Amino acid sequence: MNSSAAATDAAAAVDGEPVVELQSLFKIYGQGDAEVRALDDVNLHIEHGEFLAIMGASGSGKSTAMNIIGCLDSPTSGCYRFHGVDVATLDAYQRALIRRHYIGFVFQGFNLLAKTSALENVELPLVYRKVPKRERRERALLALDAVGLASRTKHVPSELSGGQQQRVAIARALVSEPSLLLADEPTGNLDSRTKLEIMRLLVELNRQRGITIAMVTHEPEMAQHVSRVAWFRDGRVLGEGTPEQLFERGQLRAGFS
Ligand code: ADP
Ligand code: MG
Repeated sequence: MNSSAAATDAAAAVDGEPVVELQSLFKIYGQGDAEVRALDDVNLHIEHGEFLAIMGASGSGKSTAMNIIGCLDSPTSGCYRFHGVDVATLDAYQRALIRRHYIGFVFQGFNLLAKTSALENVELPLVYRKVPKRERRERALLALDAVGLASRTKHVPSELSGGQQQRVAIARALVSEPSLLLADEPTGNLDSRTKLEIMRLLVELNRQRGITIAMVTHEPEMAQHVSRVAWFRDGRVLGEGTPEQLFERGQLRAGFS
């Protein structure tokens, strides 16, 4: 399979296949006494249009799972299918194409270029995709508008609040119209009012634009807005369900005591 075929296959496989399917996934660091099972037989799927929260205490394997889902890391064993395509059959370049074309990333620390305007930060993924300048600009403006920042396009990150910087990062993740948005503790660096603002934006993008989202958070206040929660402990998925179901079972509370 050549590289563009890999990307096309992923698109063609959308119908009927989950966006993400992890089967019996292990990620093991070190050996013997030093062995760490960052993921220990994880089975997890993310359906088209879902908003999944991955929760659990620090060290429970959330970021490891996200990095594998984002094709930034490979499992030790087990199968990861993205839109039905077995990611293990792809080479590094093909995985890079999957990231570029199908996955948007949002991080806790925003990860914006410091001396670059909001507009240019959002344009960047399209530069890598060799989208012509004019189209780039139009799409970046639309993405900034979608996150409520149409009036801040020329500002550099230091001239923006934390919440605004995270909005720029979300616009940058959305500009290439990914089929999956991955957010690792996107509200972790924000004050409580701004957290809710960003959470509302993510919920709106999910409900109104149908964007599939997987978000790591350790805050129950954030998780109550999503459609499904997967609860991690010691590299395993301890429980799964709607936020209400996990609250009833006491699992959503458990990790916070
Ligand atoms: P979380 O995001 O839930 O806090 P991580 O996925 O970052 O947890 O880590 C899960 C476990 O794997 C932790 O015990 C962590 O120390 C370990 N781990 C993560 N990355 C590495 C690595 N590169 N080398 C060794 N151990 C690692
Ligand atoms: Mg983490």
